[in-house]
Amino acid sequence: MSGVAMELTDTQFHRYARHLALDEIGEDGQLKLLASKVLIIGAGGLGSPLLLYLAAAGIGRIGVVDDDRVDISNLQRQIIHRDGSIGTLKVDSAQASLAALDPAIQIDRHAVRLDPDNVDTLVVSYDIIVDGSDNFATRYLLNDTCVRHGKTLVSAALMRFEGQLSTFKPHAGAAHPCYRCVFPEPPPADLIPRCVEVGVLGVTAGVLGTLQATEVIKELLGLGTSLSGTLLMYDALATSFYKVQVTRDPHCASCGAAAWAPATSSA
Ligand SMILES: [Zn+2]
Repeated sequence: MSGVAMELTDTQFHRYARHLALDEIGEDGQLKLLASKVLIIGAGGLGSPLLLYLAAAGIGRIGVVDDDRVDISNLQRQIIHRDGSIGTLKVDSAQASLAALDPAIQIDRHAVRLDPDNVDTLVVSYDIIVDGSDNFATRYLLNDTCVRHGKTLVSAALMRFEGQLSTFKPHAGAAHPCYRCVFPEPPPADLIPRCVEVGVLGVTAGVLGTLQATEVIKELLGLGTSLSGTLLMYDALATSFYKVQVTRDPHCASCGAAAWAPATSSA
C-alpha cells in the first residue's frame, strides 16, 4: 500500500492503546485500519453504530451515502443524530458527530441516493462496502456492483425484533456466495413490509450495526473466521443467535459462471 504511514504518532498510541494491546491487531493492524477506506450506505439505524464504531476504531477514511434529512422519528434508533440536527442532511449531521469523536478521520459525505449512474464510481473508491440501507433496490444494486468490482460487502437487514447479517465476497472463491445467490429475487413490492409500517425495536439496529462494524474490522485485518458463507440470524425477543450455512449458486445471475469468471475457478 502506498502512502501508508510507517508508524503511529504519540497521540495515536494513546488513542488506540486498547487495540495495540491486542496481539491480533498491534501497531501494524492499527496502521492498516488507518489506511483503510470503508463505504457505508445509509446514515440511519445500522449506519449510526457503524459510523461511530468504525471512526472510533481508526478507519482512516469513511464514505457515507445518504440523501435523506434527519427527522424526529429517526432519533429512536439513529443514535449518530441529535435533536438539534432535525431537518439537516444526515451526512452533515453524521459528519458533525464523527468530527467531535475524532477530527482526524476523513469523512466523505455523499448526499445522493445510490443509483445505477453513481454506484460504480462510489464502490471502486473504497476497500470494503457496508450495506445499511432499508430497501431491496439498493441492496441488489449494491450486491451486483460489488460482485462486478470484486469488493467485499457486509450486509444487514432488520425488521421488528429481528435482524440478519452476512458477508458476501464471491471473488474469494467457490465457497463464497453473493447476496443474490442466497436471495435470487426481491419479494414482490406489495409484500415488502416497510420499517415505517411494521416498526422496529431501535436497539436491534444497534446490535446489527455493531456486528457489521465488527465484521468489517475482521475482514480488513483478516482476523478470525469470516462470516462469508453464513447467514447470522438474531432474535431479540428470544435473545438468540443462530447461523445458517449459505452456498454459492453456480447459476446466480450476479456471480454465476455466465456473469462472472472467478479467479479461483477450479474448471
Ligand atoms: Zn451470486
